[in-house]
Amino acid sequence: MPGSKRLLLAMMVLAFPSPGWSQDLSTEMPVGSRIRVSIDGQETMGRLRVLWTDSLEMGPEGGLAPMKVRFSKIDRLEVSKERPGRSRQVAVMGGLIGGALGGLTFTIVAGRQSDNGSPLAFGLGALIGGAAGILFGGTVGDGAPQETWRVLPVGPRHDPRLRAANLARSAIIVDAHLDVPYRLQARWEDVSKATADGNFDYPRAVAGGLDAPFMAIYTPSDLEAEGLAKERADELIDMVWDIVIRAPGRFSVALSANAVRRNYREGAISLPMGMENGSPLEGDLANLRHFYDRGIRYITLAHNASNHIADSSRDDPQWDGLSPFGEEVVREMNRLGMMVDVSHISDAAFWDVMEVSKAPVIASHSGPRHFTPGWPRNLSDEMIRALADGGGVVMINFGSSFLTQEANAYRYGRRDAYRTSMAERGLEPTEGLEAEFNEAWAAEHGPFPFASLDDVLDQIDYVVDLVGIDHVGIGSDFDGVGDTLPIGLKDVSTYPNLIRGLFERGYGEAEIRKILGGNLLRVWAEVDRLREMADPT
Ligand SMILES: [Zn+2]
Repeated sequence: MPGSKRLLLAMMVLAFPSPGWSQDLSTEMPVGSRIRVSIDGQETMGRLRVLWTDSLEMGPEGGLAPMKVRFSKIDRLEVSKERPGRSRQVAVMGGLIGGALGGLTFTIVAGRQSDNGSPLAFGLGALIGGAAGILFGGTVGDGAPQETWRVLPVGPRHDPRLRAANLARSAIIVDAHLDVPYRLQARWEDVSKATADGNFDYPRAVAGGLDAPFMAIYTPSDLEAEGLAKERADELIDMVWDIVIRAPGRFSVALSANAVRRNYREGAISLPMGMENGSPLEGDLANLRHFYDRGIRYITLAHNASNHIADSSRDDPQWDGLSPFGEEVVREMNRLGMMVDVSHISDAAFWDVMEVSKAPVIASHSGPRHFTPGWPRNLSDEMIRALADGGGVVMINFGSSFLTQEANAYRYGRRDAYRTSMAERGLEPTEGLEAEFNEAWAAEHGPFPFASLDDVLDQIDYVVDLVGIDHVGIGSDFDGVGDTLPIGLKDVSTYPNLIRGLFERGYGEAEIRKILGGNLLRVWAEVDRLREMADPT
């Protein structure tokens, strides 16, 4: 390779660090090397002409016209390492060794017989030994030039970005918690097209490889006392059905794990539904059946206030766990084939659920409490172990305040100060006032300390270390945690970043598929199966 071209290549390697290949590729494969590439199973041989950062040009050998090949298209790239044939080398070596040995032997034998070994005897011995050596060498050496093929690390398998994008496409990504209905109720946007706001819309979901975002049917806690919770839940369910009906082929309702798989094969994004806050049940198991029939497949028993079903992790206890009706609800959910979600409920309510539920349960958007000590929205190690023992899954929340102690302290410190300030000034909290307050808070305390993608990976690693790969998933809380999402995971187009991070942490493809959705689909199918066993009709 001419010096200038080599320099240019080195500069490009430095400027675009390693998208498709390792930096030593140019030393492994000098221009002129014999190479063999396989594209879609088709092998082509040729000689390397030019090497770029993302492709190579090869040809001509055997009439091959020069062709440019992108690394991203290559299944396999091999370079030939040729050495001269063995026959001549072996024959020459054999002759020399044979000659020396033969001469020595003759000299010794002749010397014993006549007491004076002559140079003639040595010469004769060397001649016979040499001939024998050459004969031996010629027979053993196979004559063919030695050619070994070395596989080089090139192709989608070796490009972390492409590898992640491919897996995002081929894996079924199930995200257990998105607050899209809540967001759209506040401000309607057509999410079947690109939207200016929010963390979710169809084009971004396709870009991220998202296949089944659970739509949270969320009702604020104060609606329970007002008797408006059921009405609100029905409105939000109507809205999700509307989104599907308005965009057939893009979105589809999914009432079972198998339906998610079928929609995936047909190219539609499933919009399964989970109910966040059990208030809409309004103390009547008939309402549970009603919501099951309308498509709700999990219920988060309470939200930020204790309700008639369970105590909340963020409120004073009313029941010391589940209410008597709450226990009935869990049993009936088992019977109907609905997943029980323990996110948001108090520790005592969690342990009650563990005792009552005969089916695996989920935490749809919670992380390990280890990272936010004492904060009850995340789960303690004992709770994670119990959940896993029952076959359940912890779905990791992406909100920064779930991920790091620093973000948690900042967010809740600011919120408490805001509430105090509103009360002191006798003002009703509004979005505008809160934004104003947050700005002033940032001027005094510094900007919000966003968590990073690595913090999400740390939580996944932590759960895997604690209970294994089968009990962790994702419950992003997109459209639900405001402007607190971590750097690198800001909306539904960013799952490939997460996948790349998992690859870099050493997870294999099969393991990543479990995290992305396989584990939740397993629990969903299991809950369905147990229903069939309980109620053969
Ligand atoms: Zn929530």
